[in-house]
Amino acid sequence: MATVEVKNLVKSYGSMEAVKGISFTIDKGEIFGLIGPNGAGKTTALRVISTLLQVTSGTVTIMGHDVQKQPGEVRRLISYLPEDAGAYKTLTGRAYLQFIANFFTTKNVKDMVTRGIEIADLEDRIDDKVDTYSKGMKRRLLVGRALMTEPQVTILDEPTSGLDVVNAQEIRALIKKTAREGTTILLSSHNMLEVEYLCDRIALIDKGVIVEEGKPSVLMKKYDARNIEEVFTKVVT
Ligand code: ATP
Repeated sequence: MATVEVKNLVKSYGSMEAVKGISFTIDKGEIFGLIGPNGAGKTTALRVISTLLQVTSGTVTIMGHDVQKQPGEVRRLISYLPEDAGAYKTLTGRAYLQFIANFFTTKNVKDMVTRGIEIADLEDRIDDKVDTYSKGMKRRLLVGRALMTEPQVTILDEPTSGLDVVNAQEIRALIKKTAREGTTILLSSHNMLEVEYLCDRIALIDKGVIVEEGKPSVLMKKYDARNIEEVFTKVVT
């Protein structure tokens, strides 16, 4: 059984179909990348898979649990990297991680928060309020939040967006390590170098439809391309 199974997933906002019947599977420990132009439907798909949006039609299962019928079970297995810290920006970084950790566990809150603080690596700024953080610092905190719960499946929407080169490299290394340890990862990215470096398989999504899917090396060969950016341009134009 695949860890993540998406079958004919459709998601509409009113009469607008943002995701038009996509299907893919991800095996345990794989890093799967969803890439595509602005407005292609990546965030929508990731939010449906994360139980944050209702499915319009089709099915999504995480380790056999249906996101629509068993959202509680699914939420215990996954973590989602949100775009920002939402309503909790007035908390300090540490308090934010504590707040989230309390949702997940009653026993290991301290260990979980320690892990989150280590991953976020914000040094003494962890005790400053989140709304005083730079974009990159907020991103690091959210990556800490997503990985501290040691989820079976991590869903990362543009994990390194807004990070400088060194911070982005660190986060990529962390994502690779997390996958090697057995976590299944689904991510979206506009950074083709990142996708090439990180992903075992990718799906190219355009206007709500998967137009190509496969291993980066196989796709480069198929499109006679030197890198994924070239594949992307050849497929999505
Ligand atoms: P980007 O790369 O720019 O982040 P994306 O691939 O993540 O884009 P989505 O954010 O999923 O794309 O958007 C897909 C389509 O759905 C777009 O046309 C967008 O305008 C539309 N859309 C997204 N959220 C909503 C919403 N809440 N209500 C109505 N339409 C929406």
